[in-house]
Amino acid sequence: MKIRMKTPLVEMDGDEMTRIIWRNIKDILICPYVDLKTEYYDLGLKHRDETDDKVTSDSANAAKKYGVAVKCATITPNAARVEEYGLKQMWKSPNGTIRAILDGTVFRAPIIVKGIEPYVRTWKKPITIARHAYGDVYKAAEMRVPAGSKAELCVTAPDGSETRSLIHEFSGEGVIQGMHNTESSIKSFARSCFNYALDKKQDLWFSAKDTISKTYDHRFKDIFAEIYETEYKKRFEEAGTTYFYTLIDDAVARVIRSGGGFVWACKNYDGDVMSDMLSTAFGSLAMMTSVLVSPDGVYEYEAAHGTVQRHYYAHLRGEKTSTNPVATIFAWTGALRKRGELDGVPELCEFAGKLENACTETIGSGIMTKDLYLISTLKNKQQTDTEGFLSAVAERLENA
Ligand code: NAP
Ligand code: MG
Repeated sequence: MKIRMKTPLVEMDGDEMTRIIWRNIKDILICPYVDLKTEYYDLGLKHRDETDDKVTSDSANAAKKYGVAVKCATITPNAARVEEYGLKQMWKSPNGTIRAILDGTVFRAPIIVKGIEPYVRTWKKPITIARHAYGDVYKAAEMRVPAGSKAELCVTAPDGSETRSLIHEFSGEGVIQGMHNTESSIKSFARSCFNYALDKKQDLWFSAKDTISKTYDHRFKDIFAEIYETEYKKRFEEAGTTYFYTLIDDAVARVIRSGGGFVWACKNYDGDVMSDMLSTAFGSLAMMTSVLVSPDGVYEYEAAHGTVQRHYYAHLRGEKTSTNPVATIFAWTGALRKRGELDGVPELCEFAGKLENACTETIGSGIMTKDLYLISTLKNKQQTDTEGFLSAVAERLENA
């Protein structure tokens, strides 16, 4: 008998190679075992264009309503895509639109498998990066200034009064930058991180540079500390986990010496840089999961990689591709498990675990797609195409 679901998942379909893999995952790995209920939104670029991108905001609002969504990779249009698809306009990044509606933080974690060794030998468990996705240098004003200029920060209060602070008196030419963040965004970021760490029963680290940035970064540090003390401390103690703040340079040193198994909250720029460093150090972008968590507890799961365009064109030419579906499968299992937890359907959580194990065991047994074949240390490794890999996973799942 198939596993019954109580509440539908919000299903956000996408583009190119990942859209094809999406169908296959549902047909081969999920629907034979789960009486899958979803509310379907087609975020494929053609349908976004047809709906003037309304489908994207509709899907995000549905995620708010139901609490759990699973998203396929989607094309972010650029000039070439406008031409390729004959778009009415260069629609915004769907992930940006969804993030703006859900007001979330993005958590990225690697999937660890036998034979794909992290470059850092001590890392035994995944390290999750939580990246604040608003403000700082990503929303800054910048200028070049001529020699002899005086640059000041000037804030005009609602009553018209001005507060000024000298940046620099330039004898020669120079550059300046003005950036900001908001209390509400930092608070959302902090709460998303505390919730996620509790959910995973892992320690939370937060790093910034408050010794140098005595007002800006210090405010981040204080907000995290205040929210921890008043809202989360008891729950962390009950879970046997800890929260701590440390300087970003100290955090980097500790991360490299650690065994993994914690959540590392980073400011926007730090998270951008450190997430690429971690995904490379753990082995492969095709093995990174990504989940957007909103401060009121909405979860949207996806793979960290894109639509794998190059493979899609090979597929259209009739060639077999060896595209890794694992991160997309884990987006589904993440969403199914979360739905199971929220609705009290343990069979759903158990199924998610079995499907994940079927993936990691298949790779551990030596059967893998090309991206992993190139870096695996297994002696008996063999390369399969996408379909071959999916059938190997299906076979293991059936036996489980
Ligand atoms: P990509 O789809 O992540 O692929 C970049 C390259 O990484 C691929 O060409 C492939 O290398 C390798 N790769 C990535 N995922 C793989 C997988 N699952 N299996 C095997 N190899 C994999 O990035 P892109 O080509 O720069 O972007 C393509 C489209 O995706 C763009 O339109 C972009 O807007 C969109 N995108 C969407 C998201 C999202 O929805 N979250 C994120 C990023 C990009 P080889 O070609 O060497 O095999
Ligand atoms: Mg980056």
